[in-house]
Amino acid sequence: MAKINPYFSDIKQNYLFAEIAKRVNTFAAEHPEKSIIKMGIGDVTLPLPAATVEALKKGAEDLSRKETFKGYPDYEGYDFVRNAISDYYKEFGAEVSADEIFISDGAKSDCGNIGDIFAQDNTVLVTDPVYPVYVDTNLMSGRKIIYADSNEANGFAAMPDDNIKADIIYLCSPNNPTGSAYNKEQLKAWVDYATENDAVIIYDSAYEAFITEDLPRSIYCIEGAKKCAIEICSLSKTAGFTGTRCGYTVVPKELEREGVSLYKLWYRRQATKFNGVSWPVQCAAAAVFTKEGRRQVEENLNYYRENAKIIADTMDELGIFYTGGKNSPYVWFKCPNKMSSWEFFDYMLENIGVVGTPGEGFGKNGEGFFRLTAFSSRENTVEAMRRLKELLKK
Ligand SMILES: *Cc1c(COP(=O)(O)O)cnc(C)c1O
Repeated sequence: MAKINPYFSDIKQNYLFAEIAKRVNTFAAEHPEKSIIKMGIGDVTLPLPAATVEALKKGAEDLSRKETFKGYPDYEGYDFVRNAISDYYKEFGAEVSADEIFISDGAKSDCGNIGDIFAQDNTVLVTDPVYPVYVDTNLMSGRKIIYADSNEANGFAAMPDDNIKADIIYLCSPNNPTGSAYNKEQLKAWVDYATENDAVIIYDSAYEAFITEDLPRSIYCIEGAKKCAIEICSLSKTAGFTGTRCGYTVVPKELEREGVSLYKLWYRRQATKFNGVSWPVQCAAAAVFTKEGRRQVEENLNYYRENAKIIADTMDELGIFYTGGKNSPYVWFKCPNKMSSWEFFDYMLENIGVVGTPGEGFGKNGEGFFRLTAFSSRENTVEAMRRLKELLKK
């Protein structure tokens, strides 16, 4: 008799986006005349940078000719892509050699799969509110999860507590959902904690490209991190690859636990369960890091950054506490008039037809908070903020 994985029953059914869709659809059916603006979008909306599309096409052409055809790629990705990423790291002061980089089909898979190299009886620490992938993938493996509070008092940037023992720590900076980004001192505190506890940090830097201030773009900007941290990044938010699928994970050669190289374990894991990223997609990934690609990527990022600023400026004008809005496509704010996350969701939907994401859906510390994203059009962002100001200034 096949027995199922019992730990799946520990995973909370995630009703968040289903519940949002249900409430929006009900409202739209009852008020067909009302215009609804979606500001909860967690996906990019601008098309791929032209340089990456050219590379995708050329990559596809290569596959059509015997002389340039490619079969299985290397498990860890082609050298030209890994070299481009290694050079990119140098620009912000992180020493990551090409042979520590693994190209993958995205950060979500790597965030989940990385658990394969760790024992079940590790205590996993995540910050709350949290990107649900870290929690659910560890619950599926039967690991114990503990939470570090991100809240208004610490600017939604949870810090380590020496009295709490964790073995694996997930950090995401700039953070989804709160938009807050750790500075150098804060990240140093986490690296010190991990070093003292022989813990390993899984650092999700999916939003590093949004950083404009003097903040670390990688955990490897911090001394000592190469002995205690794995970094997972993605081209999804950087270059609009959410549908194209490409990310990368860095496992430093010097990172060891119990005398075993984690690089070697991850290589073994990937070689066993993963057969690499397609040639056209790796060509497109390399194009992201060319001069032309970088210019086009910046153009798209600037469009989202301006949207984020429009939202943040609105919060400033209304005197509402928020985090994010800079260095991030997210604005995370306190619901006015002590409303709960879902009360505020309904209040906005019913009065101004603006849809966002209730913070409560990301963890207990999200209650009473709300997330808006910069991934809408400029026009919709401006209009949504106009309506919000009108509503709250009454
Ligand atoms: C969007 C996002 C990613 C990217 O995942 P992909 O699988 O590469 O698309 C990773 N981490 C966080 C926190 C995200 O919000």
